[in-house]
Amino acid sequence: MQNQYDILIIGGGPGGYNCAIRAAQLGFNVGCIEKRDTLGGTCLNVGCIPSKALLHSSHLYEAAINDFASIGIQVEPKLDLAVMLADKDKSVHTLTQGIVHLFKKNKIDHILGTAKFLDANTLEIEGKTYQAKNIVIATGSNVATLPGAPIDEKRIISSTGALSLQEVPKKMLVIGAGVIGLELGSVWKRLGAEVTVIEYLDHVLPGMDTEIQKQALRTFKKQKIKFELGRKLVKTELTKTKVSVHTQAAKGENTPKTFEADIVLVCIGRVANTQNIGLEKIGIAMDERGRVITENLRTNIANIWAIGDCCTGPMLAHKAEEEGVCVAELIAGQHPHLDHNLIPSVVYTHPEIAMIGKTSAQLDAEGITYKTGMFPFMANARARTGHVLDGMVKILAHAKTDEVLGAHIIGDSAGEMISEITLA
Ligand code: FAD
Repeated sequence: MQNQYDILIIGGGPGGYNCAIRAAQLGFNVGCIEKRDTLGGTCLNVGCIPSKALLHSSHLYEAAINDFASIGIQVEPKLDLAVMLADKDKSVHTLTQGIVHLFKKNKIDHILGTAKFLDANTLEIEGKTYQAKNIVIATGSNVATLPGAPIDEKRIISSTGALSLQEVPKKMLVIGAGVIGLELGSVWKRLGAEVTVIEYLDHVLPGMDTEIQKQALRTFKKQKIKFELGRKLVKTELTKTKVSVHTQAAKGENTPKTFEADIVLVCIGRVANTQNIGLEKIGIAMDERGRVITENLRTNIANIWAIGDCCTGPMLAHKAEEEGVCVAELIAGQHPHLDHNLIPSVVYTHPEIAMIGKTSAQLDAEGITYKTGMFPFMANARARTGHVLDGMVKILAHAKTDEVLGAHIIGDSAGEMISEITLA
């Protein structure tokens, strides 16, 4: 029968497309529904890939200005932003097209449209019904918004807008000192913007180890990014050419302060995309933050699974990918193993910041005794020859067994080094 599948997957992001490919490799008849024109989800279209492309090129630009002369390379760098953006778009295009190719190769049906549940086995997509024995929810996440700063993607922008600004703003205000705010704030700082980051908490990079947070803040300040910690946005006002941002102290006495910027970038996190898909209608259990509740990736309805940003756990592409592969293997009756303690997380600023496992604060709270090993890059010969002395490695191991419980790195290539510790 037409429109009948073994597995239908809603969402063609890292979770969905990896699940589709693995399921097809295992012999299933698979359809993957995606409402965007291109496959690859947030990650490839407006997330990891374009941000990493801009981080790479803006880093080279800044190094050419600040560092090249000191090692005997004389250049006069000039920014061609249009070319830089086109280069980023080219990477996005090549990678999203790569998935189209993989879908064809694995005989996966790419169904363009928005899916909604009619019942536990049936989806409605653009007026047509599709049925499957198993359905995987991989609908990802959306940008979280602030009532006082309505996003217009022109002057008050989200991470998506920050990937395509057509000129370098003179002054940029970043709301939120999390991973995405610091990465994109770094990009525009390197390209010439004056960047101020406003953060509700009294530290940057929530969830990371305290020592790493402190070192990161020192490093970003050295790079002349300004910080206003412990401060919250109250409202924004658009004037003819600027945005006025009214803030006050997050706690305690009200100390109002107003900032003027050309661009305000709102980066306060992401929310699970689980609305308007008919999940309530068929009785899928969700938590108070709208994330699908799963047990071993299965929802409360036996033939429906959920993976990636739309369910609990870190919102990371490689977490979504692993879960996608895992679900396909579970449906095939295999016994895959996925250890959620072993998901590294990387901030691609310069220097990079990477972590895996527990922080000191978490271990203290859990009453686990541990040893701490720390080493500064300052004392490392390779770091010295590469002039990348900022940073350190901190490893937390169980006091009795020596099992590595957590590792935290701030320094050049931290994103590469964390994989080695993950394996350990
Ligand atoms: P998504 O990638 O969000 O994909 C879900 C897809 O489902 C979307 O394409 C959406 O259009 C589609 N969809 C939703 N509802 C429907 C429907 N009803 N019908 C049809 N289609 C639907 N992660 C990292 O690991 N490393 C990074 O460096 C990194 N950098 C990031 C930078 C930025 C600026 C952002 C925003 C995110 C970044 N992330 C990074 C996070 C990463 O992008 C996400 O964790 C990842 O994309 C989650 O994958 P997913 O498949 O769960 O969801």
